Amino acid sequence: MLGGTFDPVHLGHLRSAVELREALALDCVHLIPAKAPPLRGEPSVSPAERLALLRLGIGDTPGLVADDRELWREGPSYSADTLASLREELGSEARLVMALGHDAFLRLADWHAPQRLFELAHLVVVDRPDHQAALPVALRDLVAGRESDDVDALMARPAGGLLRLRLPSRMAISATELRRRLARGLSVRYLLPEAVEAHIMDHNLYRRS
Ligand code: ATP
Repeated sequence: MLGGTFDPVHLGHLRSAVELREALALDCVHLIPAKAPPLRGEPSVSPAERLALLRLGIGDTPGLVADDRELWREGPSYSADTLASLREELGSEARLVMALGHDAFLRLADWHAPQRLFELAHLVVVDRPDHQAALPVALRDLVAGRESDDVDALMARPAGGLLRLRLPSRMAISATELRRRLARGLSVRYLLPEAVEAHIMDHNLYRRS
């Protein structure tokens, strides 16, 4: 699972998903847009539009799935609920991974039921060149004793571990910067898939009104 706002999806998300799948030999990576992210403001465009952009971005990429399960759930989009629904589908023996970027990881101790995340999945933290801060104390306590750098040992168990990964193509691309560029009418070429850019332009998304 790679959850997020995807407001909009960009090559940092997509390339990370492809490289995660290869690095961990995953069957598939579910990219799951949040309807109502609990820890941030309202996204700029509707959930349906963010999902449409995600689907366009993924296209026919093998192993990547645009998963809309959070969009049909009432209330805040808690990752613990999403992992629980994946776990129910896949069974207790499946190896489940929740991937997140270093910026999102830094706030993990503030998430809803953070211990429960480790009961349901491994956490894999992807390094981002534009986010480098050290771990807060509450987070260090939360992850104490869980970290491993041995992918095979980690993936021999269904859940409970923490792995930090530096993927080959680290990209300093963020949706915040994309929204800023789009609002100012600046180019976003080569920062997101062409089909996503075309849809944004055709539908006049992220323009300053
Ligand atoms: P924003 O700038 O609006 O906060 P974002 O670009 O960080 O957005 P999100 O939708 O919040 O995108 O990210 C979903 C997940 O993907 C998060 O775990 C985030 O850390 C991760 N992620 C986002 N951009 C990158 C990137 N360039 N490289 C690796 N991981 C990324």
